[in-house]
Amino acid sequence: MRKPFIAGNWKMNMTIKEGLEYINEFKDLVKDAEAEVGVCVPATMLKDLVEAAKGTNIKIGAQNMHFENSGAFTGEIAPKMLKEIGVDYVIIGHSERRMYYNETNETVNKKVLKAIEVEIDPILCVGESLELRESGEMKPFVKEQIVKAFENVKAEDVSKVVVAYEPIWAIGTGKTATADQANEMTAFVRETIKSLYDQTVADAVRIQYGGSVKPANVKEIMSKSDIDGALVGGASLVADTFSKVAVY
Ligand code: PEP
Repeated sequence: MRKPFIAGNWKMNMTIKEGLEYINEFKDLVKDAEAEVGVCVPATMLKDLVEAAKGTNIKIGAQNMHFENSGAFTGEIAPKMLKEIGVDYVIIGHSERRMYYNETNETVNKKVLKAIEVEIDPILCVGESLELRESGEMKPFVKEQIVKAFENVKAEDVSKVVVAYEPIWAIGTGKTATADQANEMTAFVRETIKSLYDQTVADAVRIQYGGSVKPANVKEIMSKSDIDGALVGGASLVADTFSKVAVY
């Protein structure tokens, strides 16, 4: 049985003070959530929010990390720095990082492997552009993202990875993929993982949908067979709104 997982991605928003206020309000609103609930927050507030979330059912994730253990990488954050703070997750390969910060399938693979090694569960983002969707080429593109991301990942580690299928055209645009479109692609991601491993491995992986998920559409999205959760940007920024996604 795959436990549903609703994760927020705050991106570059909120101060430490605002983050702490959010957790304080959010913890009561989601205490009875059936899904696993987490927020991936800016690096500056990770330590405070990990502390604030202790004793609650809220998990805390980072939004990125480097794949090297240490070194001359100004401005970057090493895996063991996140481990020291005690984060539960790290988002890897979000489309904004692929688009603005040269994240490639190769760096994504290195980060996935490193996250598994240091025991921080990666939330691996994949998804196609509007151009690819309109040309009908989204499946080969997403397949390549998955195949490359899982290179050298051992079968026993696959279920530590959460895959977030996020069509770029639905991120922050208000345009949601229909629940059927989202399910078709999450099922395709699972099929691709099956082709790399086997049915049992593929069945154990949690696959989220991301792209303008909000209280009004979460129920339908979560009713689909191959969708195990959501990665939520805009609608995760207000505790009350996100709680209505998390407790759908
Ligand atoms: C995201 O950035 O991962 C995302 C899904 O954003 P939004 O929910 O705002 O579309």
